[in-house]
Amino acid sequence: MPATKFDSTFLDRAAGTLEAELTNAKSVAEKTNLAKSDFLSGLTRKPRTLLYVEDNLANLQLIEHIIARRSDIRLLSARNGPIGIELARAWRPDVILMDINLPGMSGIRAMQILRADTATAHIPVVALSINAMPRDIERGLEAGFFRYLTKPIKVNEFMDTLDVALKFAEQEVGQSGQVASRLRSTGDQNRMSLMSR
Ligand code: MN
Repeated sequence: MPATKFDSTFLDRAAGTLEAELTNAKSVAEKTNLAKSDFLSGLTRKPRTLLYVEDNLANLQLIEHIIARRSDIRLLSARNGPIGIELARAWRPDVILMDINLPGMSGIRAMQILRADTATAHIPVVALSINAMPRDIERGLEAGFFRYLTKPIKVNEFMDTLDVALKFAEQEVGQSGQVASRLRSTGDQNRMSLMSR
C-alpha cells in the first residue's frame, strides 16, 4: 500500500535523524566530560573513599558524623562482611575500616578475603574492635590489618589513623604486588611498638 510505504520511508528517515542526533549528543557529552575532568584534576584532588563495615548503628552514625566534616572524603558503609567485600570490589575504596564482630562472617575473615583478591589486596584495612586485649590486637595485626583500633571510638585517634592510612594508600596506588609485604611489615612494626609499650 502506498500509504504504508510513505510511512515507513518517513519513519526510516526520522530514525536516521535521531541516530545522527544521538551520535552528536554523545560526542558533545564526551568532550564536556573530558574538559570537566581536566579542569577538576587541575584544581582539586579526587575525593578519597572510606568504606566502613559495621553492624552497630551508633558507631556507624558516629563515623558518618566525623566524615561529614571532611569534604575530601566520601563514606561508603556495609552492615556485614559479604556486602563489604562486594562494595570494596566495585568501588575500590582508598581505606577500609572493619568491625571485627560482625554477624556471620567475621571482620578478620572479610579482611583476609580482601587481601587475597588482587583487586583489593592493596587497600589498607583498619580494624575496629571491642576486643582490646593486647593478645587480640597482636593477633589482628598478625592477620594483616593495617592498624588495630579499639572501641569506644576515640575521634582523634581515628582521624590520625585515617590520615596515615590515606597517605599509605596514595603512595601505594597501582603497586598491589609489593603492597602485601609492605602491609605485613607495617603490621610487624605496629606489633613491635605495641609490645615495647
Ligand atoms: Mn559489631
